[in-house]
Amino acid sequence: MTPFERRTRCAQSRLVAAGADALLLSPGHNCHYLSGARIESSERLRLLVVPASGDPTFVLPTLDSDLRDGTWIDNIRTWDDDTGPGPVLGPLLDDIDPSHALLADDMQVRVSIDLRRRLPETTFGLASEVLASLRRRKDAAELDALRAAARAADEAMRDVRALGADAVGRTEADLAAFVEARLAAHGGEGVAFDTIVGAGPNGADPHHASGDRPIRAGDPVVLDFGTRLDGYPSDQTRTVVFDGEPPAAFERVHGVVREAQDAAVAAVEPGVRTGAVDRAARSVIEAAGYGDRFVHRTGHGVGLDVHEEPYIVADGDIALEPGMVFSVEPGVYLPDRFGVRIEDLVVVTEDGAERLNRTDRGWECGDETER
Ligand code: ZN
Ligand code: ZN
Repeated sequence: MTPFERRTRCAQSRLVAAGADALLLSPGHNCHYLSGARIESSERLRLLVVPASGDPTFVLPTLDSDLRDGTWIDNIRTWDDDTGPGPVLGPLLDDIDPSHALLADDMQVRVSIDLRRRLPETTFGLASEVLASLRRRKDAAELDALRAAARAADEAMRDVRALGADAVGRTEADLAAFVEARLAAHGGEGVAFDTIVGAGPNGADPHHASGDRPIRAGDPVVLDFGTRLDGYPSDQTRTVVFDGEPPAAFERVHGVVREAQDAAVAAVEPGVRTGAVDRAARSVIEAAGYGDRFVHRTGHGVGLDVHEEPYIVADGDIALEPGMVFSVEPGVYLPDRFGVRIEDLVVVTEDGAERLNRTDRGWECGDETER
């Protein structure tokens, strides 16, 4: 049985437990998660129908026969432009006759309205009601992909660090392009999100868009980037100084953030609440006097979506379970001066945490020490 089929069978038993009769999924990450097919929405209806029991069916336009690639699902019903999807979709929905169905959370509104018209007696909920808790524990295939993506990010970060003084004079955007080229050279497939290179004061904006500011000697530079492998993303941040003397207080702030990140990773084990992981990082930063400069949550779950459950937030009460993967990324941001963020992905193991990122977390360049 492929991992995709295993997930689908698991989702079906959760459908039964939730009192739902079917999942109706438009293209997207939930559809990929269960079917293995990486397809996108189009103006022509593409729908994965997963009944609570029995085999799932894809409804696809005849023209898109290549979309069958990569999926274990062999029930594929195609429809033609001259008839529209009705003659295929109608009987399929009649067979299931759902009294309660769950729709993809990000389904296009026109598809959702069309399904509601076809199923006037049915009540509806969101697919995440059964899939979010399934997706937050990664299976072996997902962990392999996440580890591979993290490795590509680590390799790219080593290449960036090796630039040393050669990075000085490049713009943030140039450096972002370099990062992306190195991610690709190490096997990454595109970027998982817009690459952040924030030099000097720009690093104080956690979501800074890389621009035309040149890197100067002594600038702390926040680098936050990710790629994908097998559909799964990496997400890693380092704050480095390529050359020259960093500003006053930088070394201390970097040390505080690093200590906070270590404390949060050390707090990770099954049964611990997400809020306790956040607290472990936040209390170190508060004790150092920078509590009001740590302006975001400590982390977010990572899977097919770069941001998904579980969120590592102050009041988070999700109990950690083996197989959960999330970022641990405390930061301190001093407006008009600099920012520091250090981010790694961790997997919850049976007795603690495994860091997916292994590259140096220090700020100095030219130091090849692994830790
Ligand atoms: Zn990040
Ligand atoms: Zn992140």
